[in-house]
Amino acid sequence: MNHASEVLCAAHGVVDGEWLDAPWLELDSAGTIVEHGSGHPPADRGPVRDLGPVVLLPGFVNAHSHAFQRAIRGATHRRDAGEQSSFWSWRQAMYGAANAMTPSQIYNVSRQAFREMLLAGITCVGEFHYLHHQPDGTQYDDPNELGRSVLAAAADVGIRIVLLDVFYARAGHRQAALPEQRRFCDHDVEAYLRRIDVLRSEGVAVGVTPHSIRAVDGEALRTLASYANANTLPIHTHLSEQPRENEECLHEHGTSPAQAFADAGCCARPRAFTAVHAVHIDDNDRRILANQHVCACPTTEADLGDGIVGAAQLLSDGARIALGSDSNAVIDLIQEARALEMHERLASQKRLRLVDDSGQLWPTLLRAATESGASALGISATAGRLAVGRPFDACTVALDDPSLDGLPSRNVLDAVFASGTARTIRHVFVGGRARV
Ligand SMILES: [Zn+2]
Repeated sequence: MNHASEVLCAAHGVVDGEWLDAPWLELDSAGTIVEHGSGHPPADRGPVRDLGPVVLLPGFVNAHSHAFQRAIRGATHRRDAGEQSSFWSWRQAMYGAANAMTPSQIYNVSRQAFREMLLAGITCVGEFHYLHHQPDGTQYDDPNELGRSVLAAAADVGIRIVLLDVFYARAGHRQAALPEQRRFCDHDVEAYLRRIDVLRSEGVAVGVTPHSIRAVDGEALRTLASYANANTLPIHTHLSEQPRENEECLHEHGTSPAQAFADAGCCARPRAFTAVHAVHIDDNDRRILANQHVCACPTTEADLGDGIVGAAQLLSDGARIALGSDSNAVIDLIQEARALEMHERLASQKRLRLVDDSGQLWPTLLRAATESGASALGISATAGRLAVGRPFDACTVALDDPSLDGLPSRNVLDAVFASGTARTIRHVFVGGRARV
């Protein structure tokens, strides 16, 4: 039997999905939760550490990030007279940055992004990683060199990571990769799967990740789906972020992107597929996604002019909604969660669109920022919830932050999600170790 290394207590918390006053958690020496309760902690369990006037929450799970894009924060908000700016012109600027980076610069920017995530209460990141090779497409001596730079950055700051290692093959239907996309492309799908096999053999948590319907043809997509299904790996992709992508897919496949992914076998297992964005979708797409995940990235979707994720309809259909910081222009899942609800309000001219059965808003938004992200990354048994047998991945919200000071405790989580920011995060723990 493990001996308790520590008992932690807080003023309030959400433990095993339930709001508690005076929660306590007993951790073993490996940082795993072995027991929890509320009120006075039992006296015989080792040293008690009181975290003070805070709300203890599961650590946030960021289900979609491109860490390197933090480097262009603030760099895409100018245009010359007469020029149009859109997702596609933003992408050109992003490609410029992507192609200029050395492995050590990728390590450094990933470290900056992951450090900022930890400070924002994010304890696990799904890194949608597509910079693989040298700018001209030549492999490094180790074909996983850049993936390892990202993994090393995560390990060095102490954030949990699932490497959503991307397969990228082309610019579009019958179009070879553009010169600025060569860095993203493996020689073929077998070469990609060899890289994935190596990472898996080393114990790296990975996802199978066709970049988007435009970047992968149908045959490769079927190969990727059957590999993921055979090995019980999550599948992530960018889906219907821009109308042009739907038009091109209709021309190539005769269907929507969601239907094309389903036809290739990507949605064969329930809760194994994550559609990142899913902004421009129809009723048939919503049916396909009803037992899968949608990862909304509202601050990026607003920044890039993508449109709004119809979260209320997707949730009522049964889809799980996760959240991502995507371009990392903003790293704050509290703001992402708020925008999910507020974009619905702006679109519908109605309020309280994402409340749960009891009429409360915060449980839906907290679930999006925690459990649904863990589910999307295939790590539900490890992350997203404070419960017995799981590593203690947690963050706390400071009740004496100037934005929350003086509010009654029953309103605090709605105040955080409707009014607050990640500035209110005080402590962050990963696997029982204090990281902030
Ligand atoms: Zn993305």
